[in-house]
Amino acid sequence: MAAELPRYEVIALKYASRGGARPDHFVGGDPHDRPMPMDYFLWVVRNEDRLVLVDTGFNQDMAVKRHRTLLRRPGEALALVGVATRDVRDIVVTHMHNDHVGTFEEYPNARFHLQDDEMAFATGRFMCCDRFARPFEVEHVTGFVRLVYQDRVAFHDGDAEIAPGISVHRIGGHTAGLQCVRVHTGRGWVVLASDASHYYEHFEQQRCFPLVYHVGEMVEGFARLRALADSPEHVVPGHDPLVVERYPALSPQLEGIAMRLDQAPRKP
Ligand SMILES: [Zn+2]
Repeated sequence: MAAELPRYEVIALKYASRGGARPDHFVGGDPHDRPMPMDYFLWVVRNEDRLVLVDTGFNQDMAVKRHRTLLRRPGEALALVGVATRDVRDIVVTHMHNDHVGTFEEYPNARFHLQDDEMAFATGRFMCCDRFARPFEVEHVTGFVRLVYQDRVAFHDGDAEIAPGISVHRIGGHTAGLQCVRVHTGRGWVVLASDASHYYEHFEQQRCFPLVYHVGEMVEGFARLRALADSPEHVVPGHDPLVVERYPALSPQLEGIAMRLDQAPRKP
């Protein structure tokens, strides 16, 4: 059955980074006060027939406001792999945090795939609380409300197929409506965890990232990622610099920028 499904190339595009230390990234801190930088990615899923973008990253405005290092605009990163933003028809929004939806206005022809719970969360009572509201940008959220009224948001509730061999799955945890993406590739089912697991260590050791709406859902999500993927080596965390080390570059020119996630990773 799976053999009849289309297979896709999956590319992680690194567009930004920031510093940080290990205690910043785990609930309860960490005994080792070592640097633990964070990378920022968006993801391209494509074959001859189809192109799906996963998240849109942020531009210089957010980099300045939030003290991140923008290495290249997400639109520039896409151009490096031959994708023009105007040509993108389908975008999965894993969640509405600023680093995942920041450039949504650059895609005039796209439909945005979003969980019901995420829009409810981003426009509801928890946004009265700075702890939950801080990673969101009100201009992004109101922009998405406008997209709803333009009939450009495809709402999903739980599991949904975006195309044959590409599906979204509500995880929650980090935000109320966070969704991961499962893609059929030449090496089997790959799962783009996005912020269901910021680093490998989170899902491998069941440790939580401190920015969390629901700890129980986050922990259950780690098991869900493993269940959806063909193996733990098929789970791709959302912000881990190890992704750049482990996966082969799309081409020698794009070393450190574009990684082929549909190819087997180097063993850790
Ligand atoms: Zn996030």
